[in-house]
Amino acid sequence: MVEFDYYEILELSRDASPEEIKKAYRKLALKYHPDRNPGDKEAEEKFKMINEAYQVLSDEEKRAIYDRYGKAGLDNQGFTHYSEMNTEDIMNDLNSIFESVFGAGFGGFGGFGGFTRKRRKYPLDAEVDIVLDFDEAAFGCKKEVEFEYKVACQECGGTGAENRELQTCDECGGRGQVQYRQGFMTFSQTCPKCDGTGQVVVKKCLTCEGKGYLVKKDTIEIDIPEGIDEGNRIRVSGRGNIDEAGRRGDLYIVIHVREDELFIRHEDDIYIEVPVFFTQAALGEKIQIPTPWGKETLELPIGVKDKQQFIFKNKGIPNVHTKKRGDLIAQVKIIYPTKLNDEQRELLYELQESFGFESVPHQKRFEGTFEKIKKWFS
Ligand SMILES: [Zn+2]
Ligand SMILES: [Zn+2]
Repeated sequence: MVEFDYYEILELSRDASPEEIKKAYRKLALKYHPDRNPGDKEAEEKFKMINEAYQVLSDEEKRAIYDRYGKAGLDNQGFTHYSEMNTEDIMNDLNSIFESVFGAGFGGFGGFGGFTRKRRKYPLDAEVDIVLDFDEAAFGCKKEVEFEYKVACQECGGTGAENRELQTCDECGGRGQVQYRQGFMTFSQTCPKCDGTGQVVVKKCLTCEGKGYLVKKDTIEIDIPEGIDEGNRIRVSGRGNIDEAGRRGDLYIVIHVREDELFIRHEDDIYIEVPVFFTQAALGEKIQIPTPWGKETLELPIGVKDKQQFIFKNKGIPNVHTKKRGDLIAQVKIIYPTKLNDEQRELLYELQESFGFESVPHQKRFEGTFEKIKKWFS
């Protein structure tokens, strides 16, 4: 058998920090996870090796022994390689490693070679969405949040079965996995009937209608920090779902921000469109513009252009993590009159002439154009 180096398996250098080891393990364990690679023996082997490597390198004492004496040193300490263990023991081992890194709410994984999983009917962490106004997100606020969480049904111990009576799933024969063929390949997937547990309910529990849990409501007041943005999540520890053993997960509050009539937010910058009348644009003028933090003076230069932008440094939104403020960007939108009365028309002609422009009636220009075209054919 070929001996692999644990650092090589996890693609790490020998001086990797515990954080780097954990990060590498997470990345590779997800990649070679048997649920993602059904029926792939090579991925399964790789997955086992990744776990074995992690088990050693994540343990300070084991890692020190391995660094000095190699695998032989570990053997002397009674450490067993996965290649020497039976599948069931490996499964139990992998489940506990996996849960310790990914959290119990991850859901475990299916068996290699036909072992069933004990799967919670729901993840331990719960989630709730809330919608904030632009100002609430920009300034921060206190918010009463109503949320739902699941509690394992006491009556059936979370099994969903009356008297907790379960029987072997007939769909998968208790294996938790079903096989299907596609072309010349055979794949296995989690049994849809028993959800991989290998067991089904004989008669539904009346209290929870066979779901195994009850849904409860609660409210909580939370502090929304200034600068929070669409898609940000706030974790409220210990307010998630509760399993049959009384363990409780966390609640995640997912932030959404309503669009504002005036301001457009992009990351920590704010954009505002400033309507400028064409005479103001021609004259250049000082105008007042609104910001979430009060008025600012915008000095328009003579002849300001449409869509010209003016940046107000640090007048944007404070970043939710760094508190560093973004900018406010005012973009000019030049407004022209769409109707003129006789007096206005007269004044504008007068103005035009004062610049030395001769007013040329449109009709005449068109005639000239037609004359030119005619010449092409003569
Ligand atoms: Zn089944
Ligand atoms: Zn029940």
